[in-house]
Amino acid sequence: MASPRAKPFIIGGTAIQPGERRIVDLPVTDLSTHTPMTMSVQVICGRRAGPSLFVSAAVHGDEISGVEIIRRVLKLSALRRLHGTLVVVPIVNVFGFIALSRYLPDRRDLNRSFPGSPRGSLAGRLAHLFLREIVDKCTHGIDLHTGAVHRVNYPQIRANLDDPEASRMAASFGVPVVINATQRDGSLRQAAIEQNVPVIVYEGGEALRFDEMSIRAGVKGVVGVMRALNMLPTKQALKPRKLIIAQSSTWVRAPASGILRATVAMGSQVREKECLAHISNSFGDHEVEVQAPCDGVVIGRTNLPLVHEGDGLFHIARVGEAKGVAKILDSFSSGEHYAEGLTAELADDPHLS
Ligand SMILES: [Zn+2]
Repeated sequence: MASPRAKPFIIGGTAIQPGERRIVDLPVTDLSTHTPMTMSVQVICGRRAGPSLFVSAAVHGDEISGVEIIRRVLKLSALRRLHGTLVVVPIVNVFGFIALSRYLPDRRDLNRSFPGSPRGSLAGRLAHLFLREIVDKCTHGIDLHTGAVHRVNYPQIRANLDDPEASRMAASFGVPVVINATQRDGSLRQAAIEQNVPVIVYEGGEALRFDEMSIRAGVKGVVGVMRALNMLPTKQALKPRKLIIAQSSTWVRAPASGILRATVAMGSQVREKECLAHISNSFGDHEVEVQAPCDGVVIGRTNLPLVHEGDGLFHIARVGEAKGVAKILDSFSSGEHYAEGLTAELADDPHLS
């Protein structure tokens, strides 16, 4: 059965007609230089009705991988047959992006400033604009992040798995580790959930760098969610993926200061008390072992080999003795996930790889 024709999508006072693709610049404020600052949004309005999905990146201005993920998604030829509306905001924190910084010029963290207010700080105003112009008009969302500066994240999803729709999106994204995130933290995701818009967060790679595996997993993930929401064509039934679900995670801190040598790779399954790294002094004659505090999977780590006592070294998702964890991680790192389940058309699309 054909879906009904789509209606125009209105954003920033501009109506985007079914079948139209348009960039809309939403005014944020003027810079101290008198230069107007805008948050730019591209809207692709399908000819047929369906969900409206936003995909946002660089909420933390130095987490730039998502900009590349969005660029590749926008090249997909399958978007010609889009059902519903895709709304992309490649650079949310426009201030941090040009300054290569996570924060706003006043050092506030935009992802702790939601829901914000039109009379609040600059971060609060930007948060409010995003909620009013993007979240209010969408039915679903994906927010793309990376590790903070000097830290790298293994591809993972954070979502509130108590919400069945967010849970479905998390499963269709296709990365192996999902962290059940339920805390109230002033984030975009939490503010959207309070407006009944399910949002999942993708974390992969590191700040100020492009990590090809994380970018490919992100592109594949956005496409996977769009297919699960019936926004893109699906020739074969979607198979439910096996996921590693963690209810919590923990940072392993340096037991001593010195020079760090890691002995585990990202995405490794580790056992409690397993050796993760050694820290030695600069002469190499005094050495301390860093041990895993619990069973889990290494989902993040520092890139700096120089550490002070108390620095966060490894981020471990607590997954206990779950069976099949190693197999799921292996099949992801061997690249099986990139090919599995793609329609011929999407798999052939040169921009997906
Ligand atoms: Zn971030």
